[in-house]
Amino acid sequence: MIPGRNLAPLTAAMAAAALLAACNMVPGAGSGGGGKTAVVDDARLVAGDPSGANWLSYGRTSDEQRFSPLTQVSDANVGQLGLAWSSNLDTARGQEATPIVVDGVMYVSTAWSMVKAYDAATGKALWSYDPKVPRERLVDVCCDAVNRGVAVYKGKVYVGTIAGHLVALNADTGAVLWDKQSTPAGSHMTITGAPRIAKGRVLIGSAGAEYNTRGYLAAYDAETGAEAWRFYTVPGDPSKPQDGAHLDAAAKTWAPDAWKQGGGGTVWDSITYDPKTELIYFGTGNAEPWNPNARAATTKDGQGGDSLYTASIVAVHADTGAYAWHFQETPEDRWDFDSNQQIMVADLPASAGAAPQHVVMHAPKNGFFYTLDSATGKFLSGKPFVQGINWASGLDPVSGKPNVLQAAKYEQTKQGFVGFPGAVGAHSWTPMSFSPKTGLVYLPVNYTPQYYEADPAWKAGTTGFQLGLDVSKGAIPADKAVRAATKAALTGALVAWDPVAGKARWTIPYPGPTNGGTLATAGNLVFQGTAGGEFRAYSADAGKQLWTFPAQSGIIAAPMTYSVKGEQYVAILVGWGGVWDVSGGALAGTMTPNISRLLVFKLGARGTLPAAPASVAQVLDPPPFTGTTEIAALGGRFYANSCSVCHGVSAVAGALNPDVRHSAALSNPKLWQQIVHDGMLKEQGMVAWGTQFSAEQIEAIRQYVIQRANQDKALEGGTPAHAAAAAGTARRTG
Ligand code: CA
Repeated sequence: MIPGRNLAPLTAAMAAAALLAACNMVPGAGSGGGGKTAVVDDARLVAGDPSGANWLSYGRTSDEQRFSPLTQVSDANVGQLGLAWSSNLDTARGQEATPIVVDGVMYVSTAWSMVKAYDAATGKALWSYDPKVPRERLVDVCCDAVNRGVAVYKGKVYVGTIAGHLVALNADTGAVLWDKQSTPAGSHMTITGAPRIAKGRVLIGSAGAEYNTRGYLAAYDAETGAEAWRFYTVPGDPSKPQDGAHLDAAAKTWAPDAWKQGGGGTVWDSITYDPKTELIYFGTGNAEPWNPNARAATTKDGQGGDSLYTASIVAVHADTGAYAWHFQETPEDRWDFDSNQQIMVADLPASAGAAPQHVVMHAPKNGFFYTLDSATGKFLSGKPFVQGINWASGLDPVSGKPNVLQAAKYEQTKQGFVGFPGAVGAHSWTPMSFSPKTGLVYLPVNYTPQYYEADPAWKAGTTGFQLGLDVSKGAIPADKAVRAATKAALTGALVAWDPVAGKARWTIPYPGPTNGGTLATAGNLVFQGTAGGEFRAYSADAGKQLWTFPAQSGIIAAPMTYSVKGEQYVAILVGWGGVWDVSGGALAGTMTPNISRLLVFKLGARGTLPAAPASVAQVLDPPPFTGTTEIAALGGRFYANSCSVCHGVSAVAGALNPDVRHSAALSNPKLWQQIVHDGMLKEQGMVAWGTQFSAEQIEAIRQYVIQRANQDKALEGGTPAHAAAAAGTARRTG
C-alpha cells in the first residue's frame, strides 16, 4: 500500500474488470441476474442447433417446423423405445406445453403457469416455480388453466401466466428476475401461449377473444423487462388517435362503437420470428362477440364489416413492431375461426412444378391449408384439409378470400346453423410438424361440428363468455340414439398433408377429436399422443404405426426430442384437458382421466408407470325434479351459454371440472346460491355469478341441472366410470 494515495478508483476499475471477466466466462449469460445455464443467444437461436441435440425454442427452430435431425431412434428400432424417466406433475389439469432442452437441462411449463427444470438425462428435478395464480382466474380462460411453453435466452427462462404476467426466471435457480403485468391490470385477459425471442426481446400476446378483450402483441427487453412496443390488432376508440395507421384502416371495418366491447383478435398462440425477412408473423383470434350483429349497437345484418385484423395472419417488423402486411383468412368471422394456429416457415414451391419460394404455411380453424409469400403475405394457395366444410364453398383462387355460404350467416338467417368446422376448429393449437425429408406436414385435425344460433336479445355481461349466441338448442338430449350419433360424428385424424400438391398423402383416423400435437424426425418417424391415452410412433413416409405406449391419460401436448451425451430421448407431457374436455368430450364418449405427468423415453429403457387408479362408477342420486319445465328450460338456456364451457354440454362434465349433476348443493338451494351467486368456492375456481344472474335465474339453473340429472339417471342408471377418477383429480387440483 502506498501511503497518501487514494486507491478507490483503482479498486472500482479492478472490480469492473473482474465482473467483465466473469461475464465473459459464460458467453451469452445474462448480466441482469441470468443463470449460467440456458446459454442461448441470437446466433444460436437463428442457427436452430443443426445437431439436433437441443430444442431451443417452442417449435425447435425459428421456422416452427418441429423437425428433429436426430436419427438414433428410427423406423428400424423405435419398437425398442421404453420409459427412461417420468415425473408426476402437481396439477391434474390440461398439459399443453412443449419442453425446451438446452445442453442437458429441460425447462417445461405446466398447468397454472408453473415452470420446472430437470436434468434431461436423469429426470432429477432441479427447481420449480409457481406464480400462485389466483384460482378464480379459471373463469377467464375458455379451455382450462393451460400453458403451452417457456422461452429461454441468455440464462433466463420466460413464462406468461394466467394472471397476465410475463415473468423472467434465473435459469439456474428459478428465482424471479423480473415480473411484468402484461395484460391490462384488472382486465379478464390471461396468457396461455409460449413467449418467443427475437433480437433481444421477448414477445407475448394474450389469450381468449371470447371475453371483453383487445388483442395485441407486445415486445419486452429480455434483460430488463421494459416494454419496447405493443401492436394492437383491433382499433380503439375512434374519437381518439389510433395506435398506428394500420388501425385507421382497421377502424373502417368495424361499427363505430364496437371497440367498447374490446374487439377480440387476441394473439394467443402463434408467434414466429423469421430471421430471413426480419418479420414477426402472428395469428389473431376471433372477433368478439362471435355474432357480428352483437359487436355493436349500430351493427345491422350484413353491415358488420370484415373486423380487421381478427382471424388473420399479421406480419410486423421485428425492430419496431410496425405493420408490414396482413392476410385475413376469415373476414367477418362469426364461427370462432381463430387464426392463431402455428405459423410455419419453409422454402418450397407453392404448387407442383413452381420454383421454391420462402413461404408461410398455416392450417387455421376454418379448415383451409394456406401458403402465403412470407415477405408480402400474397396468397399462393389454399385447399381444404378436412372434408365437409359448410361455411364456405371454397376460396377465390387469386385473392384467397372465402366464398361464404348464406346459410352459415346465422345472424342474418335467424336460424340455427350446424357448422363445420366448429369452434374447436378443424385444426387448433395442437402443433403440426414438417419433415423436409418427406415434404409432408403432419397435421392433427378435428371433426367437431357446432351449433350456432344468434341471440337477438343478448346483452354484454361482465363474467365469462361474450358470444352473442344462444346455443341452448344445441344441447344434447338424454336419448341413446342421439348420443350414439353424436359420438359417431365427433372424430379426429392425423393427416400427412402434401403442401405442394395440396392434398393428403395418408390419414390415420381417430375415434375422437383433440389428439396431441406432432413431432417429425429424420429417423422417418412421426410421434403423436392420442386423446385415448396412447403415445404412438408412425413411419413418416407411409403412416405405418410402429410403436405405442399406454400413457394412462389422454395427450394433447406435442412431443419433442433431444440428445444428451450422444443418447437420444423423446419427451411428452401427458394430461388431457383443454377445450374439448370442458366443452363436449364427455358426451362424445372419448373421455380419459387426467393423470398429469412428464414422460421421457429412450431406446432400451424398461421403466414402468405406477398402476393406473381403479375407476369406481359413481351413481347419479339427484333430488327429484319438482320444478316446471318452463323454469328448467330457462335455466338450461343460462347453463348452455354461461356454464357449459367449464361444466360440460348438457351438464355432463369432462375430467377436469366438477360434474354438477353430482353436486350436493342440488338438494340445498341455499348452498347452491352461496356457491353460484356469492362465489363461496371462488378459491377453487368457481367465481360469483351474482353480477350476471339474479337469484331467481340461478335457481332456474339448479332446476335445469336437477332435471338433467334425473333424465340421465333414467337413461344410464349411473355415469361413466371416469367421473369418479375425475372427481378425485379435481380435488387434488384445489
Ligand atoms: Ca376464439
